[in-house]
Amino acid sequence: MTLDSPVTDVKGVGGEVAKKLAVLGVKTIRQLIDYYPRRYDDYSQVQQINQIKPGAVTIKASVKQVVGRYARRGLHITEAVASDATGSVRLIWFNQPYRAASLKIDQEYYISGDFGLRHQRLSILNPSIELVSNFPVNTARIVPIYRETKGLKSGQIRKAMREVMPLIKSLPETLPEWIVQGQSLLGRAEAVEQIHFPSSPEDLLAARKRLGFEEVFELVLAALLNKHELLQEHAVGIPFNEKLARSFVSHLPFTLTDDQKRVIWQAYQDIQKTQPMNRLIEGDVGSGKTVVAAMVALMAVAPHHTCPNGSEQQAAASDNSSTPSLVLKGTTRQMSEPPATTARRSSGHCPKCGEVLEEGFQVALMAPTELLARQHAQTIYKLLEPLGLADKVGLLVGGLKPAQKKEAQKRIASGDIRFMVGTNALIQEKVDMHKLGLVIIDEQHRFGVEQRKKLQAKAGHMPHVLSMTATPIPRSLALTLYGELDISVISTKPAGRKKIITKTVPLVGRERLYQDIDAQLEMGRQAFVVCPLITESDFMPSKSVEKVYMELSKGPFKHRRLGLLHGRMKPAEKDAVMQAFINQDIDVLVSTTVIEVGVDVPNATVMMIENAERFGLAQIHQLRGRVGRSEHQGYCYLLLGDNQAPTARLRALEQSSDGFKLAEYDLELRGPGAIYGTMQHGQLDLRIAKLTDTKLIAAARANAQEFIDRKENLLNYQELHERVRHNRAVTNLN
Ligand code: ADP
Ligand code: MG
Repeated sequence: MTLDSPVTDVKGVGGEVAKKLAVLGVKTIRQLIDYYPRRYDDYSQVQQINQIKPGAVTIKASVKQVVGRYARRGLHITEAVASDATGSVRLIWFNQPYRAASLKIDQEYYISGDFGLRHQRLSILNPSIELVSNFPVNTARIVPIYRETKGLKSGQIRKAMREVMPLIKSLPETLPEWIVQGQSLLGRAEAVEQIHFPSSPEDLLAARKRLGFEEVFELVLAALLNKHELLQEHAVGIPFNEKLARSFVSHLPFTLTDDQKRVIWQAYQDIQKTQPMNRLIEGDVGSGKTVVAAMVALMAVAPHHTCPNGSEQQAAASDNSSTPSLVLKGTTRQMSEPPATTARRSSGHCPKCGEVLEEGFQVALMAPTELLARQHAQTIYKLLEPLGLADKVGLLVGGLKPAQKKEAQKRIASGDIRFMVGTNALIQEKVDMHKLGLVIIDEQHRFGVEQRKKLQAKAGHMPHVLSMTATPIPRSLALTLYGELDISVISTKPAGRKKIITKTVPLVGRERLYQDIDAQLEMGRQAFVVCPLITESDFMPSKSVEKVYMELSKGPFKHRRLGLLHGRMKPAEKDAVMQAFINQDIDVLVSTTVIEVGVDVPNATVMMIENAERFGLAQIHQLRGRVGRSEHQGYCYLLLGDNQAPTARLRALEQSSDGFKLAEYDLELRGPGAIYGTMQHGQLDLRIAKLTDTKLIAAARANAQEFIDRKENLLNYQELHERVRHNRAVTNLN
């Protein structure tokens, strides 16, 4: 039996249990050992029967009599009496008919459970019971409670864990000695042993400290190594062209917010360097990230050269330390520059020396869905049109006709398209982007080191990367998970946006709600209905998008035009439905979360979210951003599956419209997974460490930095190396 053996090698783990464990992601012994308890019940105080009081109790007693019987309607009851020197107590089990046969009369057991009044008599209900030994597993200790699955109880996991204890005890240390010493951490083997079978609350705390530290350390080290490595790479320096920036701004139908200006300026600083930019822009839905992306990209696509009469490059360099306002402020007053100037510029000659300009670089903007890519392409087209650069914009998505796709690929390869917008189809093998200077990623968490290296191979240099997300990642989390990124935050929204009115609606409120929504539709507005699932499933008792669509189109909205949208539809079908919604040929769009990011339909003012309790707060916040994009008042209704009072979580949505606050709140309550709404991306979940534990995080960060500064060789720490390597591949937001 080794760490890499299958769990079936563990005594007592048969095929059936192994199958259940696999459901929990546990296939090997290593994974079993790594399966930490969710919580603990403290049954460590063994009491005498005459001392026990209602609540969680443990006694050491022998069983005197046992009877099993069927009561009404198939309910089975096992009753027993347990006695010690001080008295007797009744034990009751419901629906565990095997109990009677498995108990041995007059044997001494540890018995742990909830002591209380049942049918006017005091008894211990459904107790755990095991023969007295010096290593009790289910009783008479701090008992670990694991996340269970149907047909697999914590008790079975505990039993298996007990069996692998010899392996746990010989787990190798993963951290350098100087860290273990310096932070006064438990050794790894002891910590893992204590996390499963704590001998005292203090030992459990020490185990959590050790394992939490290790977890954060491994994440941060991975991020720092990524950053370190990236900075050794070569990127193209993209010169700053002030006139072009001013011209772009002068053609906008609005004034950029201060935050937008600052972020654009930060990115301009980055791309001038020959080290690759790796920046994340965090901005709430509707904060105006698209225009920021366009303006940064503008520099890359614009023709440029190093002019002997004072180039843009030099102009930019001398401006390096100035504030963004210096460059961008007051641009509305300087509308003097006509588009013609730009047109002349891009026609190929330097206005200062007449020299032929070099071609600009290429920019790839990637969106998570085709729908969004198309919308972005349109937006970018409009933004660049006044500068005479519209014909440089191209779209490449999977749903294009083969001929269109070929054409687009050809124009990308020739450099004719310089600003390409698409899905990740853009970075496939077939697309030749030899002039790629900048990659912009909108809402896509899955663009990692690998993809970036692929692009590097094609272009011969590392592209600058600008990521954008509306997922408000609290600073603590961002620093820990994405330490390799420079982060810019857009915290203010353009002026004049109304707060979206958000209300939770219990089951009984539905009819009334449908009427309210219909009133909005009557006024010409449109509505989104969002459901968590495509089809009904046994596992999750929520309403499917198909069912909701049927119900609404037969019932409350039978006189309205309804559309259905979900991720399993073909791209062309999805596009057709979305286009119909944009054209206002559909009144109510029933969909899954495919509409989550970015889609802009200003006339839609109502959103109804089914099974709201199933979503993360940040996710709902992102969703409701869809109905706050115009001068009309937006409404978001959170539908509950029952008539219970809404949870404090959902109430928080009613009260707050601050995405960051909501994310912090969810982080406290449900962990980082909730923020992404994707618990299955388990790599991002910290299992032990709390991101609110700022001290631990700071210490882990400092040690990770020191590890690099000391020029420690990861290869000397085999286990750590493995884990960090895994993290390096998955912790990248970009
Ligand atoms: P997001 O950050 O969610 O991607 P968008 O870029 O889609 O937001 O912008 C939302 C809307 O706000 C767009 O219609 C855009 O034109 C508009 N917008 C962006 N910046 C400003 C601004 N400074 N003032 C007014 N409207 C703006
Ligand atoms: Mg967007």
